[in-house]
Amino acid sequence: MLKKLFQSLRSPLRRAKHPRSTPEVLTNSQHPLRRGQISRYAVSVVERLQNAGYQAYLVGGCVRDLLLDIEPKDFDVATSATPEQVRAEFRNARVIGRRFKLVHVHFGREIIEVATFRANHPQSEDDEDSNLSSRNESGRILRDNVYGSLEDDAQRRDFTINALYYDVTGEHILDYARGVHDIRNRLIRLIGDPEQRYQEDPVRMLRAVRFAAKLDFDIEKHSAAPIPRLAAMLREIPSARLFDEVLKLFLAGYAEHTFELLLEYDLFAPLFPASAAALKRNPDYAHSLISQALANTDLRIQQGKPVTPAFLFAALLWPALPARVAQLQDRGMPPIPAMQEAAHELISEQCQRIAVPKRFTIPIREIWDMQERLPRRSGKRADLLLENPRFRAGYDFLLLRESAGEKTGGLGDWWTDYQDCSDSERRSMIRDLNSNQEESSGAPRKRRRGGNRRRGPRSDGAPNSVGE
Ligand code: ATP
Ligand code: MG
Repeated sequence: MLKKLFQSLRSPLRRAKHPRSTPEVLTNSQHPLRRGQISRYAVSVVERLQNAGYQAYLVGGCVRDLLLDIEPKDFDVATSATPEQVRAEFRNARVIGRRFKLVHVHFGREIIEVATFRANHPQSEDDEDSNLSSRNESGRILRDNVYGSLEDDAQRRDFTINALYYDVTGEHILDYARGVHDIRNRLIRLIGDPEQRYQEDPVRMLRAVRFAAKLDFDIEKHSAAPIPRLAAMLREIPSARLFDEVLKLFLAGYAEHTFELLLEYDLFAPLFPASAAALKRNPDYAHSLISQALANTDLRIQQGKPVTPAFLFAALLWPALPARVAQLQDRGMPPIPAMQEAAHELISEQCQRIAVPKRFTIPIREIWDMQERLPRRSGKRADLLLENPRFRAGYDFLLLRESAGEKTGGLGDWWTDYQDCSDSERRSMIRDLNSNQEESSGAPRKRRRGGNRRRGPRSDGAPNSVGE
């Protein structure tokens, strides 16, 4: 489709400094996007607003993705109507918004998001004097609810490829920032001065990486250059917003590629400081564990299987655990409390940066606890573990650790077999286990009771194969 788009362009795009106030207009014979490809609900929202006398366009990711032959995740509408005016037009509309007001128009399970045209806050002198300053001292935009014209709206958007407006009635595309040119060249380019735009909203650095991974685009060199230098600004972003952004980064189906880009642009450390330190200490193991977890997540998403943020965070943080455990043990804490305490500390520290809700931190702990319990299989323990609702996640996590090179003495294979076999075979596996333990310990079983001793931290920095 991309080829068709550019073959069908009648005249080459004029060179212009962006952003500009007159858009390049692509008529329906100059681009392949047809209203039939668009959610009928989105079309009806736009038409209804237009009939009521407002300007209304489809904008952002849906226009970009359709031009790239990607199925849009959702359809966003931009309009000259205020949120209250939009709400008055629809019975099924709700005004929402933490950072800025938006209207959600509900059609069963589909939601069309309608945003009023907004303008960039000027960095004016008034700001400095006013208590209601819309920016902080580093230029970060704190309030962003100033309405504006369509032209203003195009200029305050992040990337050129996200500032394309589609008029469903005339089937025109309005291109204010040479977004079509950048789609053709597969480039992520900020609108305006990159450094200033990142300072206004450092999350744009994460968005650059997210779109580069999702679309397989490059970040244009002037938009890429300031990122490592400004990456630390992410620390100023409220932790709840970062949680939302991190989920978008890792649950969109391109997590493995996204992770590589986060590392390349020094964006991983401000998000996951302890994991970044573990990656420095033990690069092969930590990198392999995290990449593998992300690759599995991508695969599950491709296959339409459910994924849980808890598993993802459990994997992202796991490589940081051993150093903590070792520190606490050095201070004289016994192994099991040290493990518990290290897990607790690590998660609370991480939550200060990224506000992972309790409904996920609890299962993270359970997945980690499972790692201590899976090696202890004697008697009825194995069967009890199988019934544990966290077994599956714990078992998958064990396989992940093994695939990253952790030595568990074949524990993963043992559990794979155990799940597959009959009751009598299971009994014999447990018996074998007991006699193997006796053989390997060279001591009567009695003396091993309660003796699931943990070894000291591994010298390679990988977590212990606890309780093996
Ligand atoms: P997708 O929904 O596929 O992740 P999207 O481009 O639609 O991609 P959204 O987060 O839904 O992304 O945002 C919709 C649009 O709002 C974007 O295309 C962009 O024009 C604008 N936008 C979103 N976040 C920002 C931001 N931080 N700064 C400037 N513009 C933004
Ligand atoms: Mg969107």
